[in-house]
Amino acid sequence: MTHLAHNSLLGLDRGELVSLVERIGEPTYRAQQLLDAIYRKRVESIDQVSTLPQPLRVKLMGEGCSISPPAVEKRFVSKDGTVRYLIAFPDGQSVETVWMPEGDGGEAGDGTEAGDSSQNGSRGWDRATICVSSQVGCAVDCQFCLTALLGVKRNLTAGEIVGQVLRVLTDQNVSPPQDRVNLAFMGMGEPFLNYDNFMKAVRLLVEEVGIAESRMTVSTAGIVPRIHDFGLEVIRPKLAISLNASNDETRTRLMPINRKWSLDSLIAAARDFPLRNRERITFEYVLLNGVNDDTTNAEEVVALLRGLRSKVNLIALNPGPGIDFSIPAADRVSAFQNVLIKSGIPTFVRRPRGRDIFAACGQLKRTVEIATSPIP
Ligand code: SAH
Repeated sequence: MTHLAHNSLLGLDRGELVSLVERIGEPTYRAQQLLDAIYRKRVESIDQVSTLPQPLRVKLMGEGCSISPPAVEKRFVSKDGTVRYLIAFPDGQSVETVWMPEGDGGEAGDGTEAGDSSQNGSRGWDRATICVSSQVGCAVDCQFCLTALLGVKRNLTAGEIVGQVLRVLTDQNVSPPQDRVNLAFMGMGEPFLNYDNFMKAVRLLVEEVGIAESRMTVSTAGIVPRIHDFGLEVIRPKLAISLNASNDETRTRLMPINRKWSLDSLIAAARDFPLRNRERITFEYVLLNGVNDDTTNAEEVVALLRGLRSKVNLIALNPGPGIDFSIPAADRVSAFQNVLIKSGIPTFVRRPRGRDIFAACGQLKRTVEIATSPIP
């Protein structure tokens, strides 16, 4: 427990809760009651864990234990139904977490916040994706991404990663597995530079919150040694790799991390990656006008991915203050897509979500700072 801020129980796994209850002389089944309360019922203070006898609640609080989920500091609702949350932790740091409803009526505005029926249909969506952050800021410094302008402030703990998900589920009044919720670890930060906390959060979300690993995807900028480690995990989300360029020269310019792990080593790691039945690696590619969006670049991508079980998500640049690139014209995007499709690579153009509220890919940056800092 020593490394846990404020003795927060949110973030502890079964083994850790068992040791805790044993240490204070309680029977092991109390750990299960705590797991249910924290992760399934989303009880927010020990006071309110009604399955525990009152004296035990007092005892736990006396030990300095708390649940303390993070708070919603701000909430922005897009006209496409996307909600961007600014989620704050007790030390004053905050991250952004995005709720993206999809399907029937998912575009109908902020209707998702109303209603209390357990039927998704009546809320106007049939599935939703939560985009989750892994660090406060990011150290990777991709030239097209707003989060990079923050630098990295700190890693999130496993409890803080899980806490974002629980906070949004509660705010939206939904509960997996009955409600179809997908997780994308594609918010602020580089998950593979906070690997252990990220993986612990994944296991808690699968085992205790009840979200299937097949509904989760993690995206990495290409931390090659961690891609190898990730392939060995028993429980793991699907893998997405931010490719973003078709040759080393351009990739190094856009993503300085390419100096450390070049395309060769990145693609080799992808080729070694042990895929499951019918699983593919997703490659994300942000299209920057006149920089990496030519059909000759598309042909280079085809050559890189030849023989890999992959699919490609193309993302036209989401613009932002201080980002020195422009959006490619629609016909360039489809020409690029066609080259890949003709070569047999399933290729999709990702529809931007919540651009109007700065919730789209590459636009996550603490709102407070957007509002107060001058454009660099
Ligand atoms: N650090 C991880 C997780 C963040 S995912 C990673 O890099 O993969 C962020 C995704 O958004 C990446 O695929 C990136 O290519 C994309 N992206 C970043 N900035 C963008 C922008 N301005 N417009 C469109 N997509 C962007």
